[in-house]
Amino acid sequence: MEYEPVIGLEVHAQLLTRSKIFCGCSTSFGEEPNTQTCPVCTGQPGSLPVVNRKAVEFAIRLGLATNCRIAPFSLFARKNYFYPDLPKGYQISMYEYPLAEEGFIEITVDGRKKRIQIIRIHMEEDAGKLKHGETPEKASYSYVDFNRTGVPLVEIVSGPDIRSPQEAGEYLRRLRAILQYLEICTGDMEKGTFRCDANVSVRAKGQSEFGTRTELKNMNSFRHVEKALEYEIKRQIALLEDGEKVVQETRLWDVEQGITISMRGKEEAHDYRYFPDPDLVPLKIDGGWIEEIRKSLPELPEKKKERFVSQYQIPEYDAEILTSTRAMANYFEESVSLFQDPKTVSNWIMGDLLRELKRDEREIGQCPVTPKHLTGMLSMIQDGTISGKIAKDVFEEMYRTGERPENIVRDKGWVQIQDETEILRAIEKAIEANPRQVDDYRKGKEKIFGFFVGEVMKQTRGKANPKLVNELLKKKLK
Ligand SMILES: [Zn+2]
Repeated sequence: MEYEPVIGLEVHAQLLTRSKIFCGCSTSFGEEPNTQTCPVCTGQPGSLPVVNRKAVEFAIRLGLATNCRIAPFSLFARKNYFYPDLPKGYQISMYEYPLAEEGFIEITVDGRKKRIQIIRIHMEEDAGKLKHGETPEKASYSYVDFNRTGVPLVEIVSGPDIRSPQEAGEYLRRLRAILQYLEICTGDMEKGTFRCDANVSVRAKGQSEFGTRTELKNMNSFRHVEKALEYEIKRQIALLEDGEKVVQETRLWDVEQGITISMRGKEEAHDYRYFPDPDLVPLKIDGGWIEEIRKSLPELPEKKKERFVSQYQIPEYDAEILTSTRAMANYFEESVSLFQDPKTVSNWIMGDLLRELKRDEREIGQCPVTPKHLTGMLSMIQDGTISGKIAKDVFEEMYRTGERPENIVRDKGWVQIQDETEILRAIEKAIEANPRQVDDYRKGKEKIFGFFVGEVMKQTRGKANPKLVNELLKKKLK
């Protein structure tokens, strides 16, 4: 029997406001524990929360950017449970009346477009952080840091529309890009500002009802999400094929072992006893404010991608990568404004530049090669100052030192050899040293031509103008 997975994702994204969602405490990261707290976010009796307007605005931005309907009326609710990092004994979230509903995100997988529904987006506060015995002296103690308590989050719940780990990865990448384009979330999974839980079940292909699902947690990179889903889908299919049943439960992804492990079953599931928070008034969002926010939205990834294809005549594949972050799209456009050959610019960004960044695990914002330096180098290839081959070395040097290409070429003596006599000298040497190959070539083995080009380049240490080398070699080898 053929099986099909059904996947839904729940993403928590931390909003980039300066202050917390219900008090004026700072949200800045990495401060001394418990230095950014007040009676409200530590849940002192008698303290009252007041909603942060900026956080609401950011959540509306996301709702609009994901094609959602913004609810004219939404309500904060208390989600009751006990945990040491939750001082009030409940988390303020939204339940029956979320802020935004019924949107979608478009993804492209294997060249095919697909819409993934967004069921709802709601706002909530983050909990604190527990630290367990971080040093040997503190081995038997646990500490709680309330700096993170009350940091604003949005939860984005997708429909059960995702059919493969690859689609899940694409959906997450696209959602993260939208958050970053909107400048409302850093999208850093390792730092926990973008977290994902997955619901997954399998069913016989063609069957309309869903199978029993499990919930996966503890995946802190896109790669882990994809791997955890792959593992879980295989595990569930194996159970069904053995005539067993999938148990509804929460499972943790174990990075070391590369497997999912049962954490708690359905019978242990919480009843959160949600009810409207009596300390907060309902959010009544004015239509005029929504329109104002809509007008302020930036060009989003999908639109930018389409524009890149039509305006710069680059392949869709290039446009997809170049628009994957707003910073990269800006880098590309700034470069093209300085050097009007978009495809060449795209090739260098997608090739050498991204390779170096990936190796060093850097973002494009941390790239030592500026658009000005990159295009300066491209102009030097174009006017024949350096060869395309040498350009590779120039690029590496620019990346390593952050130096201007003109200075590198001058200091290293990498200017291309345009002088015919010098090139001819190298050609004659190559011919003298390889009489057998000359013979073969003249007998019609034309492939050997490339060998001679290589020899001449070797002698000139890659600096000879390749066009001249080709012309002169052809004459000499006749
Ligand atoms: Zn506070």
